[in-house]
Amino acid sequence: MSDIAQFIAAMPKAELHVHIEGTIEADLLLGMADRNGIVLPYKSAEDILSGQNTGKSDPKQNLDSFIEALDICRNVLRQGQDYEDMTYGYLKRCQVENIVYAEIMFDPQVGLRHGVGIETQLEAMQSGTRAGARDFGVEAQWIMNFQRDRSAEEALDILEAVRPYKDQVVGIGLDNPERPNFPDIFAGVFAAAKKDGYRLTSHCDVHIPNSIQHIRGCIEILGVERIDHGLNALEDESVVQQLVDQSIPLTGCPTRYAFQSQTSSDDLAMMTTLLERGVLISLNSDDPAQFGTGWLSQTLIEAQRTGDLSWETMISFMRNGFASAWLADDQKAAYLKEFDRSCDSRRKRH
Ligand SMILES: [Zn+2]
Repeated sequence: MSDIAQFIAAMPKAELHVHIEGTIEADLLLGMADRNGIVLPYKSAEDILSGQNTGKSDPKQNLDSFIEALDICRNVLRQGQDYEDMTYGYLKRCQVENIVYAEIMFDPQVGLRHGVGIETQLEAMQSGTRAGARDFGVEAQWIMNFQRDRSAEEALDILEAVRPYKDQVVGIGLDNPERPNFPDIFAGVFAAAKKDGYRLTSHCDVHIPNSIQHIRGCIEILGVERIDHGLNALEDESVVQQLVDQSIPLTGCPTRYAFQSQTSSDDLAMMTTLLERGVLISLNSDDPAQFGTGWLSQTLIEAQRTGDLSWETMISFMRNGFASAWLADDQKAAYLKEFDRSCDSRRKRH
């Protein structure tokens, strides 16, 4: 491994854009399917990767087919134990990646459709989170994502049901495919979520029709404090300025859904441009098991190599992860201090 790759692997990391259902590794997926009596279209880890990646080498492929593969993972979640095991599995992996802090997205709607109550989901994830903190020293908080291809009414009902447990969820987000009426139809949901004290984020997927209107709408109509992806902000200088002036971070993912083993250099160039323009953008893995591209360290190493990025650029991206976290100021300062100390000591040795 090169010096910089070793440095990246060892760097303490925050991950803010990761979907827990996209972290289920093959053995766990097959095991959960087995205990829940679900027949998967896969028989082995190799089948899973090739099934998930069929046709995905075309960068122009739309998000829908990726969601289809992700749904196969989400569909095996049928009982509390599945949620606990999935959480524990990701946090175990965090230790290998030197991820010390994570804000993890979960998607309650598929489980609810299969009869796994919100209370069961949350309790199991809390139990996995506590076990992960104890065994691997990883701190985690949860972001509840609503699906944009489902109704706002359904999201409001879930918000209501989660109210007694709202201290277990730090923020609300939106994922799944963007529809033409996005983001307006979720205005009421986000107003209610804000009233309940949640932090707010939303996916704004890359290179889709009306990207820039969606980004602007998320800021102005939904009042988001962070945006997942959002790279097309670069199409409008005033939107870039808005992100800078209002300190609205972006969570970038160098290996997006369409790519198997290579980082998209165009998207990466957009991310570095945003960084240079002063936007608080970090790098994250999104759906590491689904992509089959490796976890966070591997994602970062690939990005560094593809863009021939400097040590300082990598440090800036990853420092932004901690700076964008939804933590109390003193906790954030402690993480940043430790991050700076760790990078400084390695820089000196280098
Ligand atoms: Zn995502």
